Amino acid sequence: MNVELINTGSELMLGRVLNTHQQWLCRRLADLGYVVTRQVAVADTGRDIETVVREALSRADLIITTGGLGPTSDDITRQLIAELLGKKLHEDAAIVQHIEQFFASRKRSMPHSTRVQALVPEGAIVLGNPHGTAPGLAMEVTEDGGWRMEDGPTRRSPSTINSQPSTPKWLIMLPGPPRELRPMFDTSVVPLLQRVLPLSGGYICRNLRTCGVGESVAEEKIGELLKPLIAQGLDLGYCARVGQVDIRLAASGERGAELVGQGETIVREQLGKHIFGENDDELEGVIVRLLTERKQTLALAESCSGGSIANRITNIPGASAVLLASLVTYANEAKQKFARVRAETLATHGAVSEAVAREMAEGVQRETGADYALSVTGIAGPGGGSDVKPVGTVFMALASASGTVAVKQFNPFDRETFKNVTGTQALEMLRRVLMS
Ligand code: ATP
Repeated sequence: MNVELINTGSELMLGRVLNTHQQWLCRRLADLGYVVTRQVAVADTGRDIETVVREALSRADLIITTGGLGPTSDDITRQLIAELLGKKLHEDAAIVQHIEQFFASRKRSMPHSTRVQALVPEGAIVLGNPHGTAPGLAMEVTEDGGWRMEDGPTRRSPSTINSQPSTPKWLIMLPGPPRELRPMFDTSVVPLLQRVLPLSGGYICRNLRTCGVGESVAEEKIGELLKPLIAQGLDLGYCARVGQVDIRLAASGERGAELVGQGETIVREQLGKHIFGENDDELEGVIVRLLTERKQTLALAESCSGGSIANRITNIPGASAVLLASLVTYANEAKQKFARVRAETLATHGAVSEAVAREMAEGVQRETGADYALSVTGIAGPGGGSDVKPVGTVFMALASASGTVAVKQFNPFDRETFKNVTGTQALEMLRRVLMS
């Protein structure tokens, strides 16, 4: 199956918007077995969009476009593709009603320009958009659809084409805003693909998410052992990001499930304690789930991570059942006043020290009564380092009924990466204790 993705939008070419659709859709499609073979981003100009759509139609079985379905003058994807395929547009009464309701529910009058979003190319399937006004559109395209170039860019009219049996292709147009595109993909596109472009023999994919082990160490542990399965068709991939490595096992065909299952057993045997989740699991989500299941609570005392650990925890629905409090005690005085760190400890060991990390965790645990209290204190840089404590030095501690544990880490990165990695290490420290 040849799958191509076309992201439209001049804002992408100007660097004003990060093309997250590329990553999100490629990932989702790959997990379903529809691996994207080519991706291109183009500006909102008719000529560019037409060229890339035409090229994609000559190669691909499935083409997905994003953006350009809105009501403004630069939103031309629908019109352009309809013209390219020789399809008339008609106004869909149900979409008009949806748009009217959308504006009425927000107590706003409906601008006339939004009606253009109710235009549907003949024969297209409408993909509902509960989060916006522009529906997605899916069309089966045949070779006689009028889009082929013969002797140049001139489009053939359908009547001039020598009609031969042709393989159907699918072209799916999705709206630009991620909050509209993502639910539409999951709710409407996935079932459509499985119905109209089913994959022969099925496809199994398992993503095992690890923490605290580097990509090369992970490969050393599992690479050789997985080789016989790879020879039989198992696809193995690593995706390393700060502090985490994802291990992706995939296979298709009759033996797909068996190969992925055997691969997973090997990975779990070798890297078991590092595996915190599967597929889209996030470390913070795993922690909220574990604490919720145990009816236990958490408090945080953060210094160099600036509240980013609390941010991650509170991004998880249900966090209020487990997170009691989070202190960002940046200044020494705040560490003393709120986290109950002693002045002598600060004077003797310095703010970035194991002793202070321990007192921060124990202090916030005492103050809040939480079952677990996690603390971090470190030097994010670029200034503030020394020979003894270079930039990147971090101490973290975890206080609980069974005592306090502390570790030293070294994360010599830019400030944002430093906070991210430090948070991941602290959360992993808590997860390991919860699992032990
Ligand atoms: P609208 O009705 O908002 O005009 P649309 O379907 O016409 O939707 P665009 O106008 O192309 O879509 O994009 C709308 C917004 O969606 C952009 O301003 C941008 O914030 C976001 N967006 C578009 N394409 C992408 C992309 N590839 N990655 C991430 N965000 C995107």
